[in-house]
Amino acid sequence: MTTTVSAYAAPSAAAPLERTTIPRRAVREHDVLIDIKFAGICHSDIHQVRDEWGGAKFPMVPGHEIAGIVTEVGPGVTKYAVGDRVGVGCFVDSCRECENCLAGDEQYCLNGGTGTYNATGRDGEPTYGGYSTHIVVDEHFVLRIPEGVELDAAAPLLCAGITLYSPLKHWNAGPGKKVAIVGMGGLGHMGVKIAAALGAEVTVLSQSLRKQDDAKRFGAEHYHATSDESTFEQLAGTFDLIVNTVSANLDLDAYLALLRVDGTLVNVGAPEHPVSLNVFSLIGGRRSLAGSMIGGIRETQEMLDFCAEHGLGAEIEVISADRINEAYDRVVASDVRYRFVIDTATI
Ligand SMILES: [Zn+2]
Ligand SMILES: [Zn+2]
Repeated sequence: MTTTVSAYAAPSAAAPLERTTIPRRAVREHDVLIDIKFAGICHSDIHQVRDEWGGAKFPMVPGHEIAGIVTEVGPGVTKYAVGDRVGVGCFVDSCRECENCLAGDEQYCLNGGTGTYNATGRDGEPTYGGYSTHIVVDEHFVLRIPEGVELDAAAPLLCAGITLYSPLKHWNAGPGKKVAIVGMGGLGHMGVKIAAALGAEVTVLSQSLRKQDDAKRFGAEHYHATSDESTFEQLAGTFDLIVNTVSANLDLDAYLALLRVDGTLVNVGAPEHPVSLNVFSLIGGRRSLAGSMIGGIRETQEMLDFCAEHGLGAEIEVISADRINEAYDRVVASDVRYRFVIDTATI
């Protein structure tokens, strides 16, 4: 009893994405059928479509920044009704019984969560993501998008937003804390907005001064170019928390030196090559080097509610589906301010 819906898929790693059709399962007891309105383009879509992380399954329908409207609910659904504004992020299932799932950290499921796309569901069927007109998801993994944020600007919150919100909350960004965001792309610009709304004093560390005006508009108080060596002398020992959104290999010793005693450098971007550092960079100030990956369902809902309350959405460029391949090239070239969002009515 599957239905066939329109989608954009990559047929293989080397090929451009093209229009196709995919099956969506019939709504089960606890499922919600979502009419997708917008889907964000995340850099990880490109890595996976191009099989740069390995394990790619084709045809692949990317998209894990999904915003839409509920059009049908299963008989056991209690959280959602037809007409509700909802979102889906990076995963659509998990074991729900390991200690991490029980703690609300489904993103760290010990038995392996099910990715929204490029994964195999617990029913053995491939999962397909948001570059499509509809998706069927268990209500536990569906988020409510409050009225305070538009659906198109909300879509990128489901990955980029929570990827920054989770570490900012975990490491207590707030009043009296100095927070630096390294890189101001799709992830970084949300980091600036959220950290500023949490009350922290925000500094952007970016290669050039090109985005300085935008950063100030998003709530940053300071902005420094990392291409200027005096930046590292000037800011030594300054920050309580640095969130690194850049996926290139950075000089970690140089960035760790910007932390105060007990400061933490958190990585949310993943460099292609292993990193190296001088351990004295940690010892010399009881500093920590850490990582963080998206967030659990409960925290993602908290993030959406927080963004709506503070009027925060992503800065977006809405495109039609026939421009996805062009958009991919522009994301790789960092030529987007700050997130592409597909209008799925054009699929
Ligand atoms: Zn993503
Ligand atoms: Zn689990």
